[in-house]
Amino acid sequence: MTLTISKTNKGKPLLILNGFTYIIERIKDVEAESYAWRCTKYTERECRARVHTCQGKVLKSSENHNHSAVHGEIGVRVVTARLKNEAKETTKSTAEILCSATEGLSLEVVSSLPKLNSLKKKVQSVRNKDNKVINPATLRDLEIPEKYAILSSGEQFLLFDSRSDNGNRVIIFGTQKNLKHLQSCPHWFSDGTFKSSPLLFEQLFVVLGKSGDVTVPLLYCLIENRKQESYDKRLNDFHLTVL
Ligand SMILES: [Zn+2]
Repeated sequence: MTLTISKTNKGKPLLILNGFTYIIERIKDVEAESYAWRCTKYTERECRARVHTCQGKVLKSSENHNHSAVHGEIGVRVVTARLKNEAKETTKSTAEILCSATEGLSLEVVSSLPKLNSLKKKVQSVRNKDNKVINPATLRDLEIPEKYAILSSGEQFLLFDSRSDNGNRVIIFGTQKNLKHLQSCPHWFSDGTFKSSPLLFEQLFVVLGKSGDVTVPLLYCLIENRKQESYDKRLNDFHLTVL
C-alpha cells in the first residue's frame, strides 16, 4: 500500500493511495494528525470511498470505488505540484523545470499530461505571481532586482549602475568573462538604438568585440539621455569602477 500526500491545484492536501486520490473531508484531531478523507470523485461520480489516516498511516478505509483507478490523473497532479514547487523555490529555467519534473514518468502519465505550452504557462504564472516586478514611475525608483543582476550560473550580470539622480543614469550589463574577451579583441564596435530601448531610457547602447572573423555583443548599456557629456562621464566612471 503506497500512501503519498501531494497537493491539489489549489494547494490543498491530496492523499494518493492505491491509484486513487482523496481530499480532506474532516480534520478529526490536528495534534494527532488524524484526518478523514473522501474520494475526489465524490461529487462527479458520487463515489463514497473514504480513508481515515493518523500520523500519515491508514487507520481505516473503505475503498469501494465505483470507478477505475486514476493513475494517469495522479501522475498529472504530482507533476503539476512538482512544477509549481520548483518554479517557486528555485531559479532554474522553465525548460530545466519541465525536464526534471517530467523525468522518469510512465507512458500513461506522459500521455495524460497537458500540452507542453500549457505546462510552461503554469511555471511562468507561478513565477509572475511571486516575483511581479512593477515598472517604476521614474528612474529614481528603479532598483535592479537580484534576479536580473545575477545570472542563474551565479555570475554577476549587472556590471555598473551610476545611480545618478541628475538625469543621466547609465546601467551596464555584461559579465567579467565578456569584459576579458573585450580586452583581448583588437577591434571594438558600438551600436546605439533608440527604438528598442526600455521604458524610461533613451538609448540602448551595445558594445561588440571583433576577434578574427567573429563579432559578438559583449556589453549592454542603458542610457537615460543622449547627451555626449553623459556618455563620456558615465563611461569614464564605468571604466574606473570595472575595468
Ligand atoms: Zn472513488
